[in-house]
Amino acid sequence: MPEKERLFLKIDEAVEAIRGDFAQYASQFNLLSVIWPMVFGDGTYIMRDAGNPTIWAKIPGTTKLVPSSEDDLKKRIVEQLMRLPPDPQHLAGICSRVFGAHVTAGSGPEPDFLPGIWVDTDMADFVCAQCGRCCRTLNYHDGCRVRDYQRWLDLGRTDILDWVGTIRQQGKVIACRIWVMPGTNDFAETCPWLALSPDQNRCVCTIHDLRPTICRQYPGSRKHARMTGCGGV
Ligand code: SF4
Ligand code: SF4
Repeated sequence: MPEKERLFLKIDEAVEAIRGDFAQYASQFNLLSVIWPMVFGDGTYIMRDAGNPTIWAKIPGTTKLVPSSEDDLKKRIVEQLMRLPPDPQHLAGICSRVFGAHVTAGSGPEPDFLPGIWVDTDMADFVCAQCGRCCRTLNYHDGCRVRDYQRWLDLGRTDILDWVGTIRQQGKVIACRIWVMPGTNDFAETCPWLALSPDQNRCVCTIHDLRPTICRQYPGSRKHARMTGCGGV
């Protein structure tokens, strides 16, 4: 498998990635119910009554069930993983559920060979359906990097830069936002580079080769695609 299809995460990076996943996706009760006993041990569990948002959690060291919200549970899981990081094998099992991907324990690349996990991103054969949904609905405005800005600047693409809002410090661009209507601070209603193909059947990005990093990186994984309504296969 080519290296770009696999991603190595050190233990602390894996826990951070779990935190990121929890923050990004709401309503993951089924996932939480699977990983709760993996994190807190046999005999622990979470449950909820049909039609009631309160989740009841069996927590180690207590005999009673504790009423919780999904956010409480996510916080407890991340805190526990930070306090007592599991061995890589066990962490790989947890991460495979959280990321919805094949994950194995292993050593990182040279020269450090640090312990951690390898995540198969499974995106090499992803095929975009060119529906344009991501371009129309996702919140990408703060995803523009200064290096995107610099690349457009180096190429003299003032037409693109016209749609980029910048924050400067002592004249230097330190952050940027896309796509801001020229001469205003307002975001454009739709991305100005989104167009229909000549046969009107597909959406195309008219700056495809120069699109910002956030657009290049979407979707980051099969789960990311699934959870954000992407129609690619
Ligand atoms: S720049 Fe291209 S890929 Fe990014 S939102 Fe606009 S049309 Fe979509
Ligand atoms: S939502 Fe998915 S399938 Fe549709 S254009 Fe975006 S990446 Fe392609």
